[in-house]
Amino acid sequence: MNKGLKWINWSHSFISHPDQIVYPATEQELVQLTKTAKDTNQKIKVVGSGHSCSLIAATKSGYLIDLKNYNKVIHFDATNKLLTVQSGTSLEKIANFALRNKLALDNLGTIVEQSISGAISTGTHGSGLKHDAIDQSIVAFTLITANGHLKIFDKRLNLSEFNLAVVSLGALGIISSVTIQLVADYHLKINTTTLNFKEMIEKLDLAYTDEYMRFWWAPHTDKVQYWKASKTQHNVDTKSNFTWFNDIFKGNILHEVGLWLTSFNFKNIPRLNKIMYKLLLEPETKDKVVNFLDGFTLPILVKQKVMEYGIPIEETKAVLLKINTLLEEKNHRVHMPIEIRFAPKDDAALSMAHGTPTCYIGIIAYKPYGKVIDFGTYFKDVHDIFAAHQGRPHWAKVTFYSKEQLAALYPKWKEFNKLKQQLDPKEMFTNDFLKRLFD
Ligand SMILES: Cc1cc2nc3c(=O)[nH]c(=O)nc-3n(C[C@H](O)[C@H](O)[C@H](O)COP(=O)(O)OP(=O)(O)OC[C@H]3O[C@@H](n4cnc5c(N)ncnc54)[C@H](O)[C@@H]3O)c2cc1C
Repeated sequence: MNKGLKWINWSHSFISHPDQIVYPATEQELVQLTKTAKDTNQKIKVVGSGHSCSLIAATKSGYLIDLKNYNKVIHFDATNKLLTVQSGTSLEKIANFALRNKLALDNLGTIVEQSISGAISTGTHGSGLKHDAIDQSIVAFTLITANGHLKIFDKRLNLSEFNLAVVSLGALGIISSVTIQLVADYHLKINTTTLNFKEMIEKLDLAYTDEYMRFWWAPHTDKVQYWKASKTQHNVDTKSNFTWFNDIFKGNILHEVGLWLTSFNFKNIPRLNKIMYKLLLEPETKDKVVNFLDGFTLPILVKQKVMEYGIPIEETKAVLLKINTLLEEKNHRVHMPIEIRFAPKDDAALSMAHGTPTCYIGIIAYKPYGKVIDFGTYFKDVHDIFAAHQGRPHWAKVTFYSKEQLAALYPKWKEFNKLKQQLDPKEMFTNDFLKRLFD
C-alpha cells in the first residue's frame, strides 16, 4: 500500500491507496499492464468514473487502472447501428455520438457520467418494463484476462457465455472494448403528475402499460410524482427541459442547504421534504417532448449513499406498504425521494433482474457538503423488508447480505464463480468486496 497515493470515489464513501495509479489510452498498454501485474504478482483494480458507492471499485494494493483516457470510438457500423468504443467511454459520450448520427440508446438511468464498462459491470438500469437494462443492449465485449490474453464475448456467437459474463462486477478481467446496439432516433414525450401514496399503490399496473415509467415518493408528504414517457417522432419543444434555476439551483444548491440544516434536527426533515416536493416535483409536465438524453437524466450533484434492491415485480405493493408502515412506526425521518423503477426480466446471470421482471426501490441518505448523516437503523430496517421479498441489492450500492444469502438469490452464482476461477485463478482482479462474495 502506498499511503501517499489516493483515489476517492464520487460519493466519497471510500478511499483507495493503491501502489500505482495508471491512465492507459490503448489496449496494448492494458495488456502490458496485465502481463506485468502477472509477472510481479500484483493486483489490478479497474475504475470507470467511480460512481459506485459500494466497495466494489475499492482497492488497497497493486495497480489502480483509471480509464479516464480510454474513451475513444473504435468502430461505427451505421448500417447495423453498432458502435464499438473503448471501455472507459462515458454513457454521455455514447449518447451524444448517437444523437449526432440520428440514433439513440434504448434506455438510460438517471445519470450518464458512468463509463460503459462500469455501467454494465454493475447491472445499471433505467426504467420501463418494455425496455432492457444497459447490459442487454451490449452485443459484444472484449476482455483482457489475467494471463494478458484477449477473449471476446459475443452474444451472436455464444449467448449463454455472454450472459454469464456481461454483468461481471469487475471480477473476470479488464473489459477493453464494448459494442453497443443503438436504436433508431426517437424523442420522449413526458408527462408527470402528483398522486397520493395510496393512489399510486393502487395504480402499479401502469408499469405494464406505460412505455417508460418511474415514480418518486417523498416520505412524510404522502405525495408521489408519477413520471411516464413514450417514444415519439414529434419535434422537441423549443423551450429546453433543463433550466439552471430549476435543476441546479433548486434541485441541488437549495436542497443541499436544507439537507445540511435538517442534519442538526431531524424533526425538520418532513418540512424540508414538503418544501422540496412543492418546488421540484409538484409542477406538472404535460406532453413535453425532449431528446432521449435530456428526458431520462437529471443533474445530480449532492453526494449521497444509496441502497437500492430489485424485487420480483409482484412484491412491489407489499414492500412499499411495509416501508410506509416502518417509517411511521419507527419514526424514521428520512430524505426524499424514495425512487421506484421497473425493468424487464434480464438474462445476465448476475443482473439484479435475472430471470424475473423487477421493481427497483432505492432509498437515499444525502451527504450535504460531505457531512455523513447517521440514519440509525433506517437502511438496515428497509434491507430486512427487501430481504423478506427476495430482494437483490444493486452491486454499486449498499447491502447487508452475507455471501451465502447473495449466492442463494442467483441461480447461476456457482457457474459465474467457476468462470471467475478459470479466467483469474490467482485472483488478480479480486478485491475485498469480491473476496466477501466468492470463495
Ligand atoms: C448519482 C448517481 C446516479 C446513479 N444512477 C443510476 C441509475 O439510474 N441506475 C443504475 O442502475 N445505477 C445508477 N447509479 C450507479 C452507477 O450506474 C454504477 O455505480 C456504475 O457502476 C458506475 O459506473 P462507473 O464507471 O462509475 O463504475 P465504477 O464505480 O468506477 O466501477 C464499478 C465496477 O465496475 C468495474 N469496472 C469498471 N470498468 C471496468 C472495466 N473496463 N473492466 C473491468 N471492470 C470494470 C470496477 O472494477 C467496479 O467493480 C448511479 C450512481 C450515482 C452516484
